[in-house]
Amino acid sequence: MYDFNYHKPSSIDEAIQLFTDLEDAVYLAGGHTLLPSLKLRLAAPTDVIDLAGIPGLNGIDYSGDDLKVGALTPHDDVSTSPVVQSVIPALASLAGGIGDAQVRNRGTIGGSVANSDPAADYPAAVLGLGAQLVTNQRTLNADEFFTGMFETALEEGELLKEIRFPKPEAAAYVKYPNPASRYATVGVFMTKTSEGVRVAITGAAPSVFRATDMEAALNADFSEAALDGISLDADMMNEDLHASAEYRAHLCVVMAKRAISQI
Ligand SMILES: Cc1cc2nc3c(=O)[nH]c(=O)nc-3n(C[C@H](O)[C@H](O)[C@H](O)COP(=O)(O)OP(=O)(O)OC[C@H]3O[C@@H](n4cnc5c(N)ncnc54)[C@H](O)[C@@H]3O)c2cc1C
Repeated sequence: MYDFNYHKPSSIDEAIQLFTDLEDAVYLAGGHTLLPSLKLRLAAPTDVIDLAGIPGLNGIDYSGDDLKVGALTPHDDVSTSPVVQSVIPALASLAGGIGDAQVRNRGTIGGSVANSDPAADYPAAVLGLGAQLVTNQRTLNADEFFTGMFETALEEGELLKEIRFPKPEAAAYVKYPNPASRYATVGVFMTKTSEGVRVAITGAAPSVFRATDMEAALNADFSEAALDGISLDADMMNEDLHASAEYRAHLCVVMAKRAISQI
């Protein structure tokens, strides 16, 4: 690990001001991605700005139309929240399937979404539910947020504050987990809303994406049989020692059918 300066601001404004003033700063949330990157010398920021403890960034609220989850909320809080379990049980279930107890107690929803790991679980829920992402400067729709592998629409220094999930009519998340890390080899988040079906797939491709062919088929006939003629292009899939591109393309349809059976 290279040396860096550590900062612990007490407000969002202070965190943003620090980021602006410092040479090459990075925000720290749960640290479950950032700290390994620092230890492996894959990142060498001059300054680390710890977001933990800043008021207003951690919590779950369902007093309005949407389920609001603060960016610093750990996965375990989402998984065990009676509010989340009642309003969007598939989101609670997804959070409970992330990593292990240590990861779920330290990792945060905002860190996961801002990091946009191609195999992370939360991006599928954000895109599948059509969530809104509230930052210090604007509100982004899920459809415009994930722009590529480890890339999002967040600008330099832009801080994710909260994610707002609309309550669906029904939803399910099914993943084929990596047996060691529990990251998604392929994960499908499927939602039924008054405007139609949304299908978001993580793990399969460089970035989470909506399976629009599946959505069209399911809007016409919401059944497992409706997906029988659908195949995804293996050329757009990831390939690694865990799964070939062809196997990932196959898993997308298998996981989607399992999601249908849970809705
Ligand atoms: C062993 C292991 C197993 C794991 N298994 C899974 C799994 O099964 N499924 C899964 O989805 N994930 C898994 N993870 C990832 C984990 O769940 C964390 O979500 C992830 O590491 C990022 O969250 P974090 O809070 O740790 O963010 P950090 O590591 O603190 O930050 C990650 C990145 O996001 C930026 N960032 C953080 N918060 C904000 C914010 N509010 N605004 C703007 N930028 C921000 C940081 O600057 C950094 O670039 C695993 C991790 C480990 C170590």
